[in-house]
Amino acid sequence: MSVLDAKRHHEDLVEELIAEVEAYNPDLDRDLVRRAFEFAERAHAGQTRRSGEEFIHHPLGVARVCAELHLDERTIAAALLHDVIEDTGSELEELRAEFGDEIAQLVEGVTKLTRIRFQSREQAEAENYRKMIVAMAQDRRVILIKLADRLHNMRTIEYLGRQKQAQKARETLEVYAPLAHRLGIHALKWELEDLSFQTLHPRKYAEIKAMVASQRADREAQAEKAGSILAEELRKADVPADIAVRAKHLYSIYDKMAKRGREFNEIYDLTALRVVCERSEEDGTRDCYAALGLAHSLWKPMPGRFKDFIAMPKLNRYRSLHTTVIGPDGRPLEIQVRTREMHEDAEYGVAAHWLYKRGKDAKADDEWLAWVRSLMDSQQEEQDPGEYMRMLRTDLFQDEVYTFTPKGEMKVLPVGSTPIDFAYAVHTDVGHRTVGAKVNGRIVPLHYNLKNSDIVEILTSKSGRGPSRDWLALATSSRARNKIRQWYQRETRGETEAKGRESLDQALKAQNLPYRKLQGSSVLAQVIRETGFKKAEDFYVALGAGKLQPGQIVNKVIQRLKTDEGVTEPVVTTKPAKARTAVSSDRLGITVAGVEDVLVRLARCCTPVPGDPIVGYISLGRGITVHRADCPNVKALQRNPERFTDVEWEGGASAGFLVQIAVDAWDRSRLLEDVARTFAEHGANIVSYGGVVDDGMARNWYTAEVGEVKELRSLLTALRNLDAVFDAYRVTPS
Ligand code: MN
Repeated sequence: MSVLDAKRHHEDLVEELIAEVEAYNPDLDRDLVRRAFEFAERAHAGQTRRSGEEFIHHPLGVARVCAELHLDERTIAAALLHDVIEDTGSELEELRAEFGDEIAQLVEGVTKLTRIRFQSREQAEAENYRKMIVAMAQDRRVILIKLADRLHNMRTIEYLGRQKQAQKARETLEVYAPLAHRLGIHALKWELEDLSFQTLHPRKYAEIKAMVASQRADREAQAEKAGSILAEELRKADVPADIAVRAKHLYSIYDKMAKRGREFNEIYDLTALRVVCERSEEDGTRDCYAALGLAHSLWKPMPGRFKDFIAMPKLNRYRSLHTTVIGPDGRPLEIQVRTREMHEDAEYGVAAHWLYKRGKDAKADDEWLAWVRSLMDSQQEEQDPGEYMRMLRTDLFQDEVYTFTPKGEMKVLPVGSTPIDFAYAVHTDVGHRTVGAKVNGRIVPLHYNLKNSDIVEILTSKSGRGPSRDWLALATSSRARNKIRQWYQRETRGETEAKGRESLDQALKAQNLPYRKLQGSSVLAQVIRETGFKKAEDFYVALGAGKLQPGQIVNKVIQRLKTDEGVTEPVVTTKPAKARTAVSSDRLGITVAGVEDVLVRLARCCTPVPGDPIVGYISLGRGITVHRADCPNVKALQRNPERFTDVEWEGGASAGFLVQIAVDAWDRSRLLEDVARTFAEHGANIVSYGGVVDDGMARNWYTAEVGEVKELRSLLTALRNLDAVFDAYRVTPS
């Protein structure tokens, strides 16, 4: 071909593309499409594809797939330009100047996706999915162009080497076809699957193709006969509809045979009758049910084969009525009924929202964003790539079950969902408070697998109780799994423990019991032991998580107090605490805002240690007293707000800090020795101690010098882990 011929040939091709787009978008900006084509043509000049044809045929092919999807003109332009940054020297800035932000961003998005290399290693795979999801969140059209790109490459895959072919086909089957499915673009999904199937298993493909062909004429004749009978009935009933015979795509036949173990002749829907009702909105929907009724009056429906995806759309918004009837010649025939709009949604999925004059569907966008957001949330939380892939596969590939609340509200969940998934689908709070479930009026275990049309009632506890960790094994939906995990992140064990202590205090207070005295008393310790806990911490966590009722504990305490003498007041104290003297601020490692070398002392009431949030209070003539921010005395001093000053810890404190630590333990020999050694091991210097033994329970107080809050924490943990130690904690005034 001469240069001039090639030029003329290109012009013809771009005119064909323009004609295709104009068929659905008469207001098309032809000039935009031409400019984009010319830009790409210049950029790719001299490049050829493996097939030997000029490279420009590839972007042109991708743009034509986008036109098949009825996408808007900017997407068409971006499709023409999608490889210019990756494969030629063109700069993004150049594109932006020439075509504006929107098109440049689309091209940039596709370029980023193109640089993703999917590998078999799961780590890399998960990482690449993450990138893909981020790209989808920015603009769905990026994924649509990428899918069109992949489809065109699959259509021309024969020119690649054998190994490369297999790799691309596998990737298409594992990544791109499921994405097309999730986006509801069945037109793309089917072709991607069949092309990959043909590449990966050429013999199996040929075999199934031959089996289908051998029966095709026969089956199609039956479908056509049925179609013309139904068309006549629809005409009499004044239901405007278009009837077509549809052949099942080969990969889905293979899938049914390979994965579900069906025999070829057990697959009823090799050919199906598709009835598309032409009227829109409610009229069309009514027509669908009318058409279905007519079909069922003509031919006997097969039990269990009727599915109403209009009343219960799939997660990817697919809507249709499906039924299988015993057709006119006595063999099963599948019939699908839908309106024109539903049909477009089914063929083009999310792409349908850029269809000419359809405008944006706000609800679909919200659902889309919610879905992408949930994927992004889970990717942030899920550190284990294997688990992340498992979850993503659930979201992308799994079938759904349709379940209902007792009020009839539908919840669509992935297959394998349990009442836990259902509870979290209703509301996070319902999920957290779940204690059991009824399905169709009967109590079921929480691992029960929900089935279609189950009516699920979640039984909840009133008190705020949290999810159990075992639930992660019971939950299938990413929503439930995320919420359970989030709960564990938020409600750290420490917080739950504090909540437990607080709730017990409240309950004791409500009974006018001396709750402060009871803390750490042998009475309470005995009650805790009786409840089955060796360590106080575990007891308070259980209490905080709502697994124990504070009321029951209080009753047990009251019973014990009635039989016992009551709480013994502990009175032993030995060595007096070292007197604290005021030191200059830099020795304590405290900075006072705006002042240098000022007299600073640590408040005796709350003995702050480095790391504690602190405030400084100007005591007249005595420098600055540093309190813990949560010290109750600080609240009292708030009357003189002008006397507060900002103070901060700085690194390199050379002095130790005095803290009081209580250690409660069941008395045993050599306990004191072990405790003292633990203090020493953590570099804490005991300056004074005291204690009392009461009913087998030893309660000891230590005043010790420690360096930092961090050290204090590890010291407390070590003390708690000592044999027979029941609780160890820092004593602060309250
Ligand atoms: Mn490409």
